[in-house]
Amino acid sequence: MSDNHKILLDEKDIPTHWYNVVADMPNPPAPYLGPDGQPVTPDAMSTIFPPALVEQEMSAQRWIEIPEPVREIYRLWRPSPLYRARRLEQALGTPAKIYYKYEGVSPAGSHKPNSAAAQAYYNQQAGIKRLTTETGAGQWGSSIALVGGMFGLDVRVYMVKVSYQQKPFRRSMMQTWGAEVLASPSDLTQAGREALAADANNPGSLGLAISEAVEEAASRSDTNYTLGSVLNHVLLHQTVIGLETRKQLEKVGDYPDVIFAPCGGGSNVGGMMFPFLADKAAGKEIRLVAVEPDSCPTLTRGHYAYDFGDTVGLTPLMLMYTLGHDFMPPSIHAGGLRYHGDSALVSQLYKEGILEAVAVPQLATFEAGISFAKTEGIVPAPESCHAIRATIDEAMHCKETGESKTLLFTLSGHGHFDMGSYDKYLAGELEDYEYPEAAIKDALSHLPQV
Ligand SMILES: *Cc1c(COP(=O)(O)O)cnc(C)c1O
Repeated sequence: MSDNHKILLDEKDIPTHWYNVVADMPNPPAPYLGPDGQPVTPDAMSTIFPPALVEQEMSAQRWIEIPEPVREIYRLWRPSPLYRARRLEQALGTPAKIYYKYEGVSPAGSHKPNSAAAQAYYNQQAGIKRLTTETGAGQWGSSIALVGGMFGLDVRVYMVKVSYQQKPFRRSMMQTWGAEVLASPSDLTQAGREALAADANNPGSLGLAISEAVEEAASRSDTNYTLGSVLNHVLLHQTVIGLETRKQLEKVGDYPDVIFAPCGGGSNVGGMMFPFLADKAAGKEIRLVAVEPDSCPTLTRGHYAYDFGDTVGLTPLMLMYTLGHDFMPPSIHAGGLRYHGDSALVSQLYKEGILEAVAVPQLATFEAGISFAKTEGIVPAPESCHAIRATIDEAMHCKETGESKTLLFTLSGHGHFDMGSYDKYLAGELEDYEYPEAAIKDALSHLPQV
């Protein structure tokens, strides 16, 4: 029925293969570089990643089979629903059609378990016993805590200290699933100890927490590192989002004119948009728009350059849009969007004009999230509110021009652990913060020379 609110698939419709966009990119991805300026070898990556993930990271094969134990875990919440936002459309009085793919139905409340399940599986297969990771808003830490336990792995999460303090229930959720959670910077690693020596009140950052988690994984052979976004294999796993969405839209005979997704490290952007990219290459008119915060404007105002993925400089160099690896993000309330860099694949496709990007201010994102909650019911994660803002803006533009475009966005998660941020917004305590040009210039002057 075309006037359905929810468009649902059967469990047998969960994709059997992930889609690798590298096979359809106009140019091959730029290689990651090691400290010597030479392309990183699979061997070097194997100190912190299992062989299967290293292979996926460098693969150009179009379709990669999803192992059955991973699909078994996906069945706990996938296929996720696609909704037609009829009540929001009505409230806006727009002729546009608005669809959203809701990833908040996963146990952790976001799209992140789509990759966590795969990463835990391949690590277990490789005989690894422990996983380390970092988490900002708590979404990735929760995801790896959830599936790590299911595959019998111990999980240690370095949680950015401000989030650790602001989000105690994210911490207890991870502990419920059996993970150990530490506030970062911690005194367990050299990176953490140095940061604390320089500033005992260091609030932490995603880049610093990555340094701690990588340092620990590199120092122990039974331990590997997991990353919740940015890397090619993470975006690969997230393509289940776009692949399901395509099927769901086919069911109602529709196709998007514009797709919006919130952009932190790029995993839900890639996950939703990559499966539509081959159509675009084949001449289909479709706009793919990443939405980021004004306060962390990586794609819209960063530089396209080789930079480290972490603060200390332990990761390989990646060619990406970056605000500088020592970027200290302001404490905005979309913690998942506060990363200094971006996926190399998303960055290259943006550079080549295939993806677009917009930056939106914080207050306007909460305003959009509240309009959404009042009409569609779901309280969105602050990260997701960015995509909602851009979608509403486009829908209002359609109202002016009278165009009935089909708009689609990823509702990447729910905001049930973010009510503290909503509280602040409702109390009028949040502000807009546009990242200053001088700070961008300064951070970029510390970019590694290659
Ligand atoms: C982590 C997160 C994001 C942003 O991360 P990407 O890697 O850019 O996808 C967006 N929304 C939610 C709910 C998140 O948890």
